[in-house]
Amino acid sequence: MTMTAKEPKYVAPTVYPETQKYWDAASDGKLLVKRCLDCGEHHHYPRESCPFCFSERTEWRDASGQGAIYSYSVMRRATVPYVIAYVTLAEGTTMMSNIVDCDPDKLRIGQPVTVTFRPSDGGPALPMFTPV
Ligand SMILES: [Zn+2]
Repeated sequence: MTMTAKEPKYVAPTVYPETQKYWDAASDGKLLVKRCLDCGEHHHYPRESCPFCFSERTEWRDASGQGAIYSYSVMRRATVPYVIAYVTLAEGTTMMSNIVDCDPDKLRIGQPVTVTFRPSDGGPALPMFTPV
């Protein structure tokens, strides 16, 4: 089963000043991650200061969009079943998202995925992932 024909309406995220650029990029089909200039770690969600060393010297980077499923749950009781997952990006940070255009029964931990974008209900596009 694929989820292209019927997909849930995705709730629009709340956009804060520190995440505005992230959501603007998502609407342009680009995934951004924040990287700390002091310790070099990438992080997600985008924040003003690094969650590892609290440095405020962070920069936006274009993410590769490649990652792997860290964990996932199939929401079968929803009107339209969907998959929530933690995806570890190639950059090393992990983000919660949805896996779309997939057969939920064939997903596995460690599966390579690539970013794709879905419209939200009245807000910016949402980065989601699909099996490679
Ligand atoms: Zn840092």
